[in-house]
Amino acid sequence: MAAEVSEPDCIFCKIVAGQIPSMSVLETKSVLAFMDIGPLAEAHLLVIPKRHYARLDEMPEQEVRELTTLLPRLARVVVKVTEAEGYNILQNNGQVAGQAVEHVHFHIIPRKEGDGLGYRWPAKEYEPGRADEIHGRLLQALKARN
Ligand code: AMP
Ligand code: ZN
Repeated sequence: MAAEVSEPDCIFCKIVAGQIPSMSVLETKSVLAFMDIGPLAEAHLLVIPKRHYARLDEMPEQEVRELTTLLPRLARVVVKVTEAEGYNILQNNGQVAGQAVEHVHFHIIPRKEGDGLGYRWPAKEYEPGRADEIHGRLLQALKARN
């Protein structure tokens, strides 16, 4: 399905169109970076494609490249301004994964020791044989047209 350039009910499309205000920090022909209105930390940024795509896997690779190539520079700026010790790049797809705004966006969240944001990573183990099975299925799926 071809992506719409702009979705009338999408809040980030409205930001791109200048219909609602944002505190933008960087704009290119296909990408906009602006401050998150509900920051997890000061200088928390969002980086979005100007065209409307709900999920990352819907984006053409070229537009992904045009967006992701900006992340290191923006991260350096965020770290410099906040004197952060690190940062998270977070990109949620689907409500189940925490996506509230259905227009692709990358969060850049500066992190400091004791910032209270935490980090949940409840790692599991594969049942015997299951990793091999999943590995085979992944390789097969990659061979098919995606
Ligand atoms: P997610 O949960 O990954 O979909 O994140 C959506 C983010 O968009 C949240 O961090 C919101 O604070 C942010 N957000 C929603 N509306 C606006 C807006 N008008 N301007 C800036 N950030 C926004
Ligand atoms: Zn949109």
